[in-house]
Amino acid sequence: MFTSVAGRSVVVTGGSKGIGKGIARVMAGAGANITIGARDEGALAAAAADLAQEGAQVATATVDVSRPADCARLAQIAQEHFGAIDVLCANAGVFPNSRLADMTEAEVDYVLGCNVKGTLFAVQACQAALAASGRGRVIVTSSITGPLTGFPGWAHYGASKAAQLGFVRTAALELAPQRITVNAVLPGNIITEGFADMGEDYARAMAASIPLGRLGSVAEVGYACLFLASEEAGYITGQTIVVDGGQVLPESLLALQAM
Ligand code: NAP
Repeated sequence: MFTSVAGRSVVVTGGSKGIGKGIARVMAGAGANITIGARDEGALAAAAADLAQEGAQVATATVDVSRPADCARLAQIAQEHFGAIDVLCANAGVFPNSRLADMTEAEVDYVLGCNVKGTLFAVQACQAALAASGRGRVIVTSSITGPLTGFPGWAHYGASKAAQLGFVRTAALELAPQRITVNAVLPGNIITEGFADMGEDYARAMAASIPLGRLGSVAEVGYACLFLASEEAGYITGQTIVVDGGQVLPESLLALQAM
């Protein structure tokens, strides 16, 4: 197993819930010190208490990543607590459902503001500390939706997740001289606290469209991030890892039925 994040300082945006909390738990389990950032102070405190109970060193920052000043504060808090930032998991994301015919400018701004600008601002804020680390890692949580697939109601979201990959490729070039790698994970359908709201029929139908026959866990996304954060992944930059149980592979329903 890869153990090389032990003692490193890992920042996870959107670390209070869902995939971000899963990433934080996996990194903490490997011995990293964790700073989680999100908007809701109560959810952050609850997540920090859960992680601390499992033995993790955790700091929290109440931030909205769509604001550069908040991202700067997140980076400052991580450095005050742990003296460094070695890994940034730019994971915070929002996905309100809205059809193109009804989509408002405010909805578009909200989704692009968090998912695209928030990713960029978080990296900007952490860049100096990641460079000082000498082995900095940026891991962006994108999605299969946008880069590889589409889903009605998520035109703005899909655009934002594809935009993140454009960002990753150029950031990887700009940050390479500072020995910072920049990669992305592309989750498929992952079970989070919010997943129950989608209903059992949705979960069943989704599982039936996934070759491995089930939805993914937040830990399974976390393990992909742990690999990208490891010393052993130090020569990988500007790349993506799809974590989707094979969901994007079948070219049609017939392909699934022929399995
Ligand atoms: P989630 O359970 O709703 O968690 C989202 C996290 O991001 C929360 O901690 C939330 O906390 C935080 N957040 C949202 N807006 C923020 C902002 N402006 N500033 C700071 N923090 C913010 O969602 P999730 O499913 O884990 O999604 C996490 C990431 O995975 C997203 O980038 C999403 O696109 C991606 N993803 C998820 C799936 C899936 O199946 N779940 C699949 C593919 C990709 P607050 O609301 O308190 O700020």
